Amino acid sequence: MDFELTEEQLAMKELAKDFAEKEILPTQEKDEKGHVFRPELVKKMGALGMFGGIIPEEYGGTATGFLSTLVMNEEIARHSASYGLPFNMQVFGPALIILAFGTDEQKKKYVPALASADMFGCFAITEPNSGSDVVSMKTTAVEKGDFFAVNGQKTWISNAHVADACILYCHTDPQLKHKGMSAFIVELKKTKGVTTRPIETKLGLHCAPTGEIVFEDAMIPKSAMLGKRGDGFKICMTMLDNTRLSCASRAVGVAQAAEDASVKYAQEREQFGQKIAEFQMIQEQIAMMHVECQAARLLVQRAASLKDKNVKCTLEVSVAKYYAAETAVKASSEAVKIFGSYGFSSEYPVERLYRDSKSFQIVEGTSNIQKLIIASNIFGKKK
Ligand SMILES: Cc1cc2nc3c(=O)[nH]c(=O)nc-3n(C[C@H](O)[C@H](O)[C@H](O)COP(=O)(O)OP(=O)(O)OC[C@H]3O[C@@H](n4cnc5c(N)ncnc54)[C@H](O)[C@@H]3O)c2cc1C
Repeated sequence: MDFELTEEQLAMKELAKDFAEKEILPTQEKDEKGHVFRPELVKKMGALGMFGGIIPEEYGGTATGFLSTLVMNEEIARHSASYGLPFNMQVFGPALIILAFGTDEQKKKYVPALASADMFGCFAITEPNSGSDVVSMKTTAVEKGDFFAVNGQKTWISNAHVADACILYCHTDPQLKHKGMSAFIVELKKTKGVTTRPIETKLGLHCAPTGEIVFEDAMIPKSAMLGKRGDGFKICMTMLDNTRLSCASRAVGVAQAAEDASVKYAQEREQFGQKIAEFQMIQEQIAMMHVECQAARLLVQRAASLKDKNVKCTLEVSVAKYYAAETAVKASSEAVKIFGSYGFSSEYPVERLYRDSKSFQIVEGTSNIQKLIIASNIFGKKK
């Protein structure tokens, strides 16, 4: 394994850094306070080719690979976890899964539009009473002529109220349990019987839209089915294998931001007549942040390089996702301690890092669910 980024990957990292500094940072403080999402920024990221790296050239991408894309994803998340999320909503979620399971028509219609951010994407699994236990979802699609009538409620859906194309997971044959789940591509804004509303009560990710989607006899054409009837669970698990990796790289970005902020602050703040960086306990805190952040990044890069070689790597992805999420929370928590009361203030960045980092332990399968996946791989009991 080569541990160095290529010149091309370093240039992509620089592109992401430049974009974040020029486009995200100038309004970040105001936007975080006002919970403002700027769709134009996501469109600019699409125009710069940030989402095209894992998309083949024939669908408007550059096919530079998972690792290259995740280098940018981490860099954007280092500045803003909220704007790291669109990598998932555009490509790691919807576009990749349409590429893997879609018809030619579906691929042509959606993949280039998602990669360029002409269309915004989302995926809807979670329901009010169904989270980790995906198969317990209650949303159903009942066949009616050339359509399926969809009824149910999805919640905590990133991009719910701004998305054009949603990968909807629901039951077409509930009695068959996981074999009775199917997936559809639903054009949310164009489908009658679909209503969306934002969730305004989030702890963090204030510049990223999250919401609910309600389906009331929403008529979805049969041609919108993704894959075959009954493939929904398989499609969902395949998708999560990709989105988890993006989540892990965003977590590394947040952990790195916590380390950077702590190093800077520790060299400025003085107590007992010296910089707090001179206290060994502070050095130990920052040394551990550094070690764990490096380790998390290597785990992400290992999984990404396996993905680039087309090797199935569910275990490696879950290991990376678990460790990176825990590292982000620990690093940002340590950063809050190092900043003292200023760590508790929204005028300094580390309280945002702490709030945002908690999302990584929940989304794309909680930390407990990652440990379940890791253990079932170890004991050869893959489900
Ligand atoms: C900011 C944000 C964005 C999100 N975006 C999306 C999205 O775009 N699309 C989408 O579909 N969902 C999304 N979600 C939802 C997210 O995927 C779920 O919250 C997550 O899967 C956990 O489900 P839950 O919240 O219902 O928790 P539950 O499943 O109810 O879990 C509660 C607790 O029990 C634990 N637990 C559950 N089962 C087990 C078990 N077998 N063994 C041990 N412990 C267990 C969990 O680890 C957790 O600690 C988002 C959530 C957040 C916070």
